[in-house]
Amino acid sequence: MQTIDRESAGSARVAIVGGIHGDEPAGVRIVERLAAELPPLDSPDGGGRGDAEPGGLVRLILANEPAIEAETRYTDADLNRAFPGDADSDEYERALAPRLAAELQGFDAVLALHTSHSAPPPFAIFSDLTASVRRTVTGLPVDHVVDASGLRSTTLDSTIPHTVSIEVGRQGSEEAVEFGYEACLAFLRVHGALADEPPTFSETVVVKGNEEVPKGSGEPHVHFANFEAIPEGAVFAEDDVYTHRVEEPGVVPILASEHGYDEIFGMYGRVTGVLKPPDEGDLRVYPRDEDEEGNERDEGEERDGGDGRRGSGADGGD
Ligand SMILES: [Zn+2]
Repeated sequence: MQTIDRESAGSARVAIVGGIHGDEPAGVRIVERLAAELPPLDSPDGGGRGDAEPGGLVRLILANEPAIEAETRYTDADLNRAFPGDADSDEYERALAPRLAAELQGFDAVLALHTSHSAPPPFAIFSDLTASVRRTVTGLPVDHVVDASGLRSTTLDSTIPHTVSIEVGRQGSEEAVEFGYEACLAFLRVHGALADEPPTFSETVVVKGNEEVPKGSGEPHVHFANFEAIPEGAVFAEDDVYTHRVEEPGVVPILASEHGYDEIFGMYGRVTGVLKPPDEGDLRVYPRDEDEEGNERDEGEERDGGDGRRGSGADGGD
C-alpha cells in the first residue's frame, strides 16, 4: 500500500483510493496524476494557495501494490470482498484490509475507484447513506447510484464510513482514466478540498441492487445495458443453461456483461427514487415519478440530454 498525502484547500479530510483491484489500471493512473498535480502538504508557498485551512488533507492511496505489479485482480483474495479483514491472516488481501481501513479512519469522505467489464455509463455505489455520501454522490458526474446496502457487507464502501465507490468505465480504456480523473476533481470540489471552481450538484437516480443473475455455459447473450429499463416479459440475458426472462416491471441491469464475469451476467436492480443535492430537502431517497407500469421516464433522453455530464451514453452490451 502506498499513501500519498496532499494539501487540501479546505478543512475536510478526504481520500481517494485506487488499485483496490490490481488489473484496473485506471485507478492507479488517476491517483498518480492527482499526486503529481495537487500541492504537497506544507509546501512553502502553499501550492499557490496560502490560505489552506488547518486540518484539511487529501490522502491518495494505491491499495494493492503486489496485485498492481502482477496486473491481476488480487493475489490471494479479492480485497473488495475481504473487509473487515484479519491482520493475522496469511492471505495478503485479508491482512491488507485492516491496514487500509486504518489509513481511512476518521476521514470525512472517501472515494474508491473501480473499472468493470460492463458497458458505460459510469455510476456510483454506496452502502450507508450519510450526509457526506449524499454530497459525494450528487456531486459526481454520474446519473445513477447503486444502493448496495442489501448486498455484501465485505466491501470497502460497506465497512468504511462515508465511502462511495465509483465505476469509472470499461477496464483498460482511456475513457475510464479521463472520466475518473474529472470525477475525482468533482469529488474534491464538493468537499472543499479543491477551490479551482465552485462545486456543482444534481439529482442522482438510486437503483437498489437486489439479485445476482447467474450464468451457465455456452455463448452468453445480454440484451440490455446498464440502467436500461427491461420491459416486462423481455429476456435480459441467456445462454445454453439459462433464459432470464423478467416477469415484473421496473427492473434494470447493473454491471451487465456477457464476458466480464464467470458466474453472473450482472445484477438485477430496481429504481427506488432520487437523491437530492445537499441544499435541497432531507437526507433520504425521494420517490421518483413513474408511469403506471412503473417504468422510468425517458431514460435514454435524459442520458443524452446535453446536461454536460460525462456518461458516454453508449448503449449495447459487451
Ligand atoms: Zn474493481
